[in-house]
Amino acid sequence: MLLWVIGDVGHTGLVDADVVVIGAGALGLSTALHCALAGRSVVVVERLTAGSQASGRAAGLFKSVQADELRTRLARRSIDKAVSFADWAGVPLEVARPGSFLIARTVQHREYLLRELAQSRRWGVDVREASPEQLADGISYYRAGGGEFALWCPEDVYIEEPLSLVRAYLDAYRRHGGVLLENEPVVAITRTYGRATGVETAERSITAPVIVDAAGGWVRQVASLAGAWVPLAPVRHQLLITVPTADVDPADPIARVVDAAVYLRPARGGLMVGGFEADPLPVDPRAQAASFSTDEVPLDPGVLQGLAAEVAAEVPAAGDTPVAELRGGLFTMSPDGRFVLGPVPDLPGLWVASGCNGSGFSSSPAIGEALAGWITSGAAPGGVEALSPGRFGPLPDGALVTHGLWQYAHYYDPVSGTPEAATPAGAPVQD
Ligand SMILES: Cc1cc2nc3c(=O)[nH]c(=O)nc-3n(C[C@H](O)[C@H](O)[C@H](O)COP(=O)(O)OP(=O)(O)OC[C@H]3O[C@@H](n4cnc5c(N)ncnc54)[C@H](O)[C@@H]3O)c2cc1C
Repeated sequence: MLLWVIGDVGHTGLVDADVVVIGAGALGLSTALHCALAGRSVVVVERLTAGSQASGRAAGLFKSVQADELRTRLARRSIDKAVSFADWAGVPLEVARPGSFLIARTVQHREYLLRELAQSRRWGVDVREASPEQLADGISYYRAGGGEFALWCPEDVYIEEPLSLVRAYLDAYRRHGGVLLENEPVVAITRTYGRATGVETAERSITAPVIVDAAGGWVRQVASLAGAWVPLAPVRHQLLITVPTADVDPADPIARVVDAAVYLRPARGGLMVGGFEADPLPVDPRAQAASFSTDEVPLDPGVLQGLAAEVAAEVPAAGDTPVAELRGGLFTMSPDGRFVLGPVPDLPGLWVASGCNGSGFSSSPAIGEALAGWITSGAAPGGVEALSPGRFGPLPDGALVTHGLWQYAHYYDPVSGTPEAATPAGAPVQD
C-alpha cells in the first residue's frame, strides 16, 4: 500500500492513495468499496454529491434474464450481492424480492422470449413459462388479455429508492476507510512518462497508480482530461411514478411488456412506468455549459404517455392515474450494448467503469467486484476482459451516437436478441 496521508482531507495540497475513483455513482462507489475491501487506500472524487446523477434516479430494477452469458452471470451475481449486502458489506440494504413477468403480446416477441427462456436456462437462470392463470392472478395492476405469452422470473428484485443502494455502498466504503470528496470536480488527470498518475481538483492534487473513470454521462470528458478516448454515447432515459392507487398491490411483481418496451413495478403505493422510445434523445454534456447536470436533461412526459398508451388495455393505471414524479437522466450506451470495463488502451493507470446501457445500477455490485479484482490482482476475473474498452476500434462521434441510439431503441427488440444481431451492420466491434 502506498503512503497514506488522506486522513486530513480538509487540507489542500498533495494526497496519495492506491486508487482514485472519479464519480460517486453506483459504478464508482461499488468499485471503490470493493477496492477498499481488498485493503487498498481509496479516494472517490465527486463533482456534485454521491448518487445525485443517474444512480439516484434509476428504477432500481434487477433482471436475471440477459442477452448473453457474461451479462447473465454479472446480473445474477449482482442480485446475490444485493440480497446478501449486509453479509459481505456489513451494512443493511432493503431489497424487494417479488420476481418479475416478461410478457409478449405478439408472435414475434413470443419467439424472442422463447429464445431467452432456452438460453437463460442454459446459463443457470431460474426462469419458467408462466401459465395464463399465473399471469392473470399474479399482478393486480396488469389485466391479462388472455393472448399473452409470459415468462416468470422468480430471481428478479428491485430496490424501492435507488439512493438507498448508494448510501449502503457509501456507509460500507467509509467503514473500510474509504474517503469521499464531494463538490470537487476533477479538472485534470496527471500523466507521467506515459502513465496516468493522479488527478487534480481545485483544492488538491491526488497521486495514485490507478485512476478509475466512473463519471457516468461525463465519462468521455473525464477520459479526455488524460488525452484518452472511451467509446460511449449518453442517451436520455425517463420514468414516471403515479400517485398511490388501489390498482397496485405493493407486493406485486415487476412486469416488462417487451413488445411495448415498457417496464412496470409498484412504487410508493403507486405504479412506476418506464420504457424505451423508438426515437431516443442523445445528450452530449460536452456541448453544454460546464455546470450541466442531470437536472437539466430535458424531460418529455409525452414519451411516457405514448409508452403508457401502448399498454393501456392491460395496465389502465399506467395512463389514467395522476403522475406524482417524472424523472430522467443519462444512460451511457456503447456500440454493442455491453459494459465498458477495464484498462483504457494506450494509457496505463487509467481504467473505466461505464457503458451501463440501462443496467449499470443493477449490475454495479458485480461490476465493482470484478473491476476491483482486476485492478488488485492484475488479472480480469470471469471473462470480463471481453468488456474491455479496447474491443472497439476508433469510431467517430457520429457513429457512436448512431449505434448508441440503435441499442437504446432495440432494448427489448427481437432483432437484438442475439449478440451478433445486436451489432448494427458496419459497426467495428471486435470481441
Ligand atoms: C430514469 C432512469 C432509470 C434507470 N433504471 C435503471 C434500472 O432500473 N436498473 C439499472 O440497472 N439501471 C437503471 N438505470 C441506469 C443506471 O442509473 C445507470 O446505469 C447507473 O446509475 C450508472 O452509474 P454511474 O456510476 O456510471 O453513473 P452516475 O450515477 O451518473 O455517476 C457518475 C458520477 O460522476 C460524477 N462526475 C462527472 N464528472 C466528474 C468529474 N469531472 N469529477 C468528479 N466527478 C464527476 C457525476 O457527478 C456523477 O455523480 C436507469 C437510469 C435512469 C436515468
